[in-house]
Amino acid sequence: MSNTKDKTFSCEFFPPRTEAGVEKLLKTTHDLHEVMQPAYYSVTFGAGGTTRDSTLEVVQLLTATKIAGQQINVAPHISCIGSSKQQLGDLLAQYKALGVRRLVALRGDTAKNGETTKELSYANELVSFIRETHGDHFTIEVAAYPEYHPESASPQSDFEYFKNKVAAGADAAITQYFYNIDAYLHFMDKCQSENIEIPVTPGIMPITNFASLTRFSDACGSEIPRWIRKQLESYAEDKDSLMAFGLDVVSNLCNQLLENDAPGLHFYTLNQADSINAIWKNLDR
Ligand code: FAD
Repeated sequence: MSNTKDKTFSCEFFPPRTEAGVEKLLKTTHDLHEVMQPAYYSVTFGAGGTTRDSTLEVVQLLTATKIAGQQINVAPHISCIGSSKQQLGDLLAQYKALGVRRLVALRGDTAKNGETTKELSYANELVSFIRETHGDHFTIEVAAYPEYHPESASPQSDFEYFKNKVAAGADAAITQYFYNIDAYLHFMDKCQSENIEIPVTPGIMPITNFASLTRFSDACGSEIPRWIRKQLESYAEDKDSLMAFGLDVVSNLCNQLLENDAPGLHFYTLNQADSINAIWKNLDR
């Protein structure tokens, strides 16, 4: 069986806050590259209190990094909710100068103080802005939500707004993570019935820590199915059993997704290589 041929595998990082974190990220990049050679590494923007500048710094570092003599592909995330058009334009120019060819374009999460710039309110407007200012220079990925965005008024409107991003010029999408494969398959059926043909790559979150997974999932609206939650709860302090169960669940999910024609997988690495490389080794190839 060859589940991985002709598919796109990518890995997501967040900007570290310390020098030690930066060193570790470089090691993670090398460790991932050695095993799976991802098509690109994406770097989050403004998430978890990090700033625009820290994303740019990591992008500068990674675009200057060569592994086995080869440059690696880097895809910065860029979000519009807290930035003016002027700031976004300057950032896009810097990314272009660094040789970046792919972006993940997002609205971003509303700041705790509710501050937004009001210039570009939704991701489809950001996609249009990037197309207006840079034509086809960038391949643009957008976010998709098989279990619906937590703020969406209804599943129908959420899908309509997803279509707006495609109409604005998105080339591809990456999903929020999920553990219910039916949610993804339903989303893909809906795309097919609406003639949306862009690749929609599942975002994959490894299961390595119950407390943080619950916190993320509550915040982003990804459901942890009861049978998984109960099992994880039962391990309490037994970290090894939790990791083994998590690896099994996520590896099975990935294999089922690839068998069901997912165009690839996008791994939320949390800046760690081991859990991702372990999943990679479990893929049917
Ligand atoms: P949009 O597509 O603009 O949608 C946001 C919400 O508004 C949805 O509920 C949608 O239904 C609704 N909506 C859209 N258009 C309209 C309209 N015209 N009128 C009314 N409602 C509308 N966050 C970060 O801060 N940094 C990151 O780096 C980051 N990376 C991510 C990567 C991926 C792959 C994913 C899936 C998410 C990421 N996020 C990141 C989280 C994301 O920013 C949040 O989920 C955010 O709340 C929505 O961003 P979006 O681009 O999906 O927004």
